[in-house]
Amino acid sequence: MPRANRNRRDHVPLNLERLRGLDARVTWSGRTWFVRQLSGASSTRAYRCPGCQQELLPGTPHVVVWPVDGLGGVDHRRHWHNSCWKARDQGRSGGGRM
Ligand SMILES: [Zn+2]
Repeated sequence: MPRANRNRRDHVPLNLERLRGLDARVTWSGRTWFVRQLSGASSTRAYRCPGCQQELLPGTPHVVVWPVDGLGGVDHRRHWHNSCWKARDQGRSGGGRM
């Protein structure tokens, strides 16, 4: 019987103030974004990747980005597949072939 993970802290809220200065920033699509690499280990829901419009399943390592200017705050967080984020400037036209 597996031991329970009593000390897991799955519900630490994402604190934007604390994150400021810690995360990488990139300029993309005319805005500056914070970029954070997530292991996905603590995610419990699926997200829609804006790069490929596919689901990003719980437990998948991925990238979360949100605008530095704070407009929309956490509501504007976007969860991307690692590969989609890296390829965000490519394949926007006619891409997606398997
Ligand atoms: Zn994707």
